[in-house]
Amino acid sequence: MKFNVSDLDDRLGEPAAFEFVTNAQEIDALTEAYSFKGDIAVKGEYVNTGRCYRFTGQIECTKSFVCDRCLEPSLQQQEHSFNEEFQRGKELAVNGEKAKIVNYFDGDVIDLAPVIRDVLLSDQPLNNICNADCRGLCLKCGANLNHGDCGCDRTVIDPRLAALQQLLLK
Ligand SMILES: [Zn+2]
Ligand SMILES: [Zn+2]
Repeated sequence: MKFNVSDLDDRLGEPAAFEFVTNAQEIDALTEAYSFKGDIAVKGEYVNTGRCYRFTGQIECTKSFVCDRCLEPSLQQQEHSFNEEFQRGKELAVNGEKAKIVNYFDGDVIDLAPVIRDVLLSDQPLNNICNADCRGLCLKCGANLNHGDCGCDRTVIDPRLAALQQLLLK
């Protein structure tokens, strides 16, 4: 995941392809809410634009999680794209304004691992749902409604109407 960009010094504007396989442990993309199972495949290209080194590409991974609605273990194939610029040195505030987000590095080596990690973690939805149509669990008996209806009456009655219903039954 480390690139020696001095190779690109005499190849201005000429993209070079790359491809590698990593995993969640290696890039420290471990969270409690979900995990990435097996290989994380990364491919793309990088180019010396003269102003910066730009890395673009795609990440393919398998997310493993427990569905928030039905509580079933689920796997989801995901693809994420990235487009990152790297500059040598430190970030300088331009006229007090925060410049465009750029990654900074020293020397000749760029490590893509933190970028892959950030893209994977920030590209996740707030909820872990197995399927947009997931019907979740029955609030009465706890059955997984994706496997069919359990037959419970889940009609929610307004508490005021319920009180009225009690009066009528007397
Ligand atoms: Zn679900
Ligand atoms: Zn039920």
